[in-house]
Amino acid sequence: MSMVLRYSECRLPTEYGAFQVIAYREEGNPNEHLAIVHGDVAGKRDVLARAHSECFTGEILHSLKCDCREQLDLAFRRIAEADCGVVLYLRQEGRGIGLGDKLRVYAMQQQGYDTVDANRVLGFKDDLRRYDMAAAMLEDLGVESIALMTNNPAKVEGLRRDGVIVTRRVPHLVEPHALNRGYLETKRERMGHVYDLRDAIPSARPLGVFDPSSMHDAE
Ligand SMILES: [Zn+2]
Repeated sequence: MSMVLRYSECRLPTEYGAFQVIAYREEGNPNEHLAIVHGDVAGKRDVLARAHSECFTGEILHSLKCDCREQLDLAFRRIAEADCGVVLYLRQEGRGIGLGDKLRVYAMQQQGYDTVDANRVLGFKDDLRRYDMAAAMLEDLGVESIALMTNNPAKVEGLRRDGVIVTRRVPHLVEPHALNRGYLETKRERMGHVYDLRDAIPSARPLGVFDPSSMHDAE
């Protein structure tokens, strides 16, 4: 298991409610992982949780090419409403390849490759994400087991492989829009994601700012 150090923490008021935010440092990684905690998770089982890998383009630039920001937003909304829960914000951009190379993958997509083929053409494995630091963070938090919010069975397996007890998978889908629908379909058809659009939860994205269906720069 990877070594993580609980470096600092504070109470943070947010749009969703107040969370305890804990920063972890990991040996050999210049980026700090975060645990964003609602309620008392220590000693608890089946804690509602999301292991979320950072997405600068989606979360900061509000890119419409993926659904990361909306999934993160939904995770915060859900744990704020639960008795307790935790979002692990993991610093591994672009399924682990980093931001600069992720932009190269996006450029390939503009030439007609889908997300899986673009990664392969550039020589990256489909998914370089790891979760041993997540296991170490949950252990530090005293979380016994988690109910994982994801549509990706491979992520459940990845977390289990790296030492996390996942009791069940909780479907976690935000209604797609015109620009990310193709990306979501690729994830379903080629990466084993499981979802049913009837489970989709409406996006909290501000309405009336733009209409994605009016844009034509789809993948
Ligand atoms: Zn993203």
